[in-house]
Amino acid sequence: MGNGVKIGVLIVVLGAAGYFGWKNSRAISGGNDFDSPKTFWSCTECKADFEMSLGEVRKTREKLGAEMMTCPKCSKNAALSAAHCEKCGRNSPFVGHGEVPKNCMHCKAVMNPGRGK
Ligand SMILES: [Zn+2]
Ligand SMILES: [Zn+2]
Repeated sequence: MGNGVKIGVLIVVLGAAGYFGWKNSRAISGGNDFDSPKTFWSCTECKADFEMSLGEVRKTREKLGAEMMTCPKCSKNAALSAAHCEKCGRNSPFVGHGEVPKNCMHCKAVMNPGRGK
């Protein structure tokens, strides 16, 4: 009886280790983060496109205290929240009060205002 319980505990521990190992490897490889939706950004300085998880955005905002996000390419605080174009895969900054632009600034495809937030 005692032996059976031990084996049961071992399986639970191994299962948990496998789960956390899987989670870590996904985080390192930069795969989709299920806990945090992705947001899209476009740098006004170097025109770089990048994406960030909402968790990262919150952390950076707390640090900077600003709406602009730090660009990973030129490291200036000049990146604006953007809409993601499904056609060309690039980002176009929101216009006015956070509205999705009518057309993609890269390929001119019509943007879907219901998406990309
Ligand atoms: Zn930049
Ligand atoms: Zn496009």
